[in-house]
Amino acid sequence: MQSAMETVMRHAAAGRGTDAEELRYSVEIFHNPALPAWFRVQMGIIAALEAANLYPGGLDYSLLYGAETIALLEKLTDRGVSQQAAEHALTAFDGAIRRIASLALTNALLPGSLGLAEETGKRIAVLEGLVEEAARSGGKADDELSGRIMEVVGSMTASFRSVHAVVSPQIDALVALHDRGRGLLLTRRLESRTDLSALRAAHPELAADFEELTGRLEAGDGAAAGRARLEGLRTSERLDELIARIKSQPGFAQFLGWLSPDQLRAMASQGPIVVLNHAKELPCVAFIVTTDEISALHLKDVKAQEVTDAARRLSRAIEAIYARGRLRPRVSGLLAARDEITEILDWAWHRIVEPVLDRIGYLEPVQPGAEWPRVWWIPTGPFNAIPLQAAMCKAADCTEGQHGSTLDCVVSSFVPGFQTLAHARARAARGPGVRGGERDSAPHALIVSEPDDVLPGAVSAARFAADALGADTVLVGSDADLATVLSALENSQWVQIGCHAHSSPDRPAGSWIQLPSGEALSVPDICRIRPDSARLAVLTACGTARSAERLSDEAVHVTSAFLLAGYPEAVGTLWEVESTQIESFLRGFYARALDGTATTAHAVHHAVRELRDTISDRPHVWAAYIHAGS
Ligand SMILES: [Zn+2]
Repeated sequence: MQSAMETVMRHAAAGRGTDAEELRYSVEIFHNPALPAWFRVQMGIIAALEAANLYPGGLDYSLLYGAETIALLEKLTDRGVSQQAAEHALTAFDGAIRRIASLALTNALLPGSLGLAEETGKRIAVLEGLVEEAARSGGKADDELSGRIMEVVGSMTASFRSVHAVVSPQIDALVALHDRGRGLLLTRRLESRTDLSALRAAHPELAADFEELTGRLEAGDGAAAGRARLEGLRTSERLDELIARIKSQPGFAQFLGWLSPDQLRAMASQGPIVVLNHAKELPCVAFIVTTDEISALHLKDVKAQEVTDAARRLSRAIEAIYARGRLRPRVSGLLAARDEITEILDWAWHRIVEPVLDRIGYLEPVQPGAEWPRVWWIPTGPFNAIPLQAAMCKAADCTEGQHGSTLDCVVSSFVPGFQTLAHARARAARGPGVRGGERDSAPHALIVSEPDDVLPGAVSAARFAADALGADTVLVGSDADLATVLSALENSQWVQIGCHAHSSPDRPAGSWIQLPSGEALSVPDICRIRPDSARLAVLTACGTARSAERLSDEAVHVTSAFLLAGYPEAVGTLWEVESTQIESFLRGFYARALDGTATTAHAVHHAVRELRDTISDRPHVWAAYIHAGS
């Protein structure tokens, strides 16, 4: 089955048309209830891909089959299934959703590009005429003539811009579908954390049932087999029935519903939200959501393979810089690794960030005293590994495009998807919970740190944070065992964890934090925490926003796990940062975050700018920090 899907994808990538006959065959299989559901899902994906490849008019069918397939898949991803099995299935599926999006868009963009070629041809003919005229006048173009030439050149640039991005109701539907498809796994984790106050007031018995069932599923063992597995399956089915019953009550049709294009636009009220779509062998596309519109921006200079390569090059350069002992490269090797990072930041600026900021009108540096605009990034696939928030042109005389950097134009935040962002904002708006104190009283803080002989400088960074926060609980070394940390996490508003983080392709449940006790604090562990009054998790653990390459699709890394658990915001790092460097970031960060003058995102932003200004030649330190969440 996999190979059939691959064949269609190869056809699609090669731009070969799909026969309408083949499409009808796939649709027939998709609708055949006698066939196994997983098989039907695969055929639904193929139908959506085939339809996207039909030109013209295939986009509507592609959206239809995509939506029907996701609806079928939702029924399949029961909550009793193990985290591993769900992630495996959904990772494959997520890649397909990203392909459908890119393919459909390429076809939506194609008519525009053809029109552009014709239009450009006409303008070039006019331009040639004008240049000939100028030549006849002895090379001295008078003001009137040069004015006409500039006008034609200007109109060519304008037409390039207008076709470069596409806005249409189909794009709206596509972006909503994209988030729904990508969010299948993540949103299952959010269900039990839904705000039930409205339901509790109107239908207390339904709210109680909902809490009981979600609580039972959460308590269940993810790796259960046999009878326990069957029990989980039945509970999941009962929850589906209950959700359907709740939705049928007047006023609750939207309960646990998917976000509509209108809701997506409304979410951009604090700043644009940018989805970077990555699909193998297809053009990369940025979906840009503002309060006015949802547009698809064709990142025409970015090949999908380039993004994958950049992520790998970056990871190798970072590894070389932080290597110790016999593995440590010579000085020339270290300098080459730094140059490599600078090159990747330059590439990320010109090819990805510059066109996006140009489109939303944030390409100019923010002047002193002016308000900083905010942008939320939703990277998919290997885009997750690219430090978009730190992208910058390498030299003032660079000829690639406009000289500039993300850090001079916008405050960046990262989220794995719209659903998670909505969840994080709802948590932030709720304020401290019943167990928490007042917002302005000293926050209940938990600090976890490795001892200095494991991570040099970690204890000093922990003590600094403990003083700044007036922390009640500081766990260093063997005191920081799993049970103690988990229980402290439930009751803390602020958390700072300074340990190593790991991700392994052999552990599909994503990444984990290696606690000082030697135990692993895994992504599923973090997702099960039910914090009551959580505000912020500062994860100076190394590489907390890194996900296993194979599973980067759903981006379930340590930083987003804290968002799913109910922390509205988190600070993480894209890769390992030398522990002795962490305190200088924390000083800059806490000085701003705690005096009430800056939001967490602004505090991270300005602390990183300060680092960049003092150690500009060490991007392996300052380009790692990110803000995630609301
Ligand atoms: Zn440049």
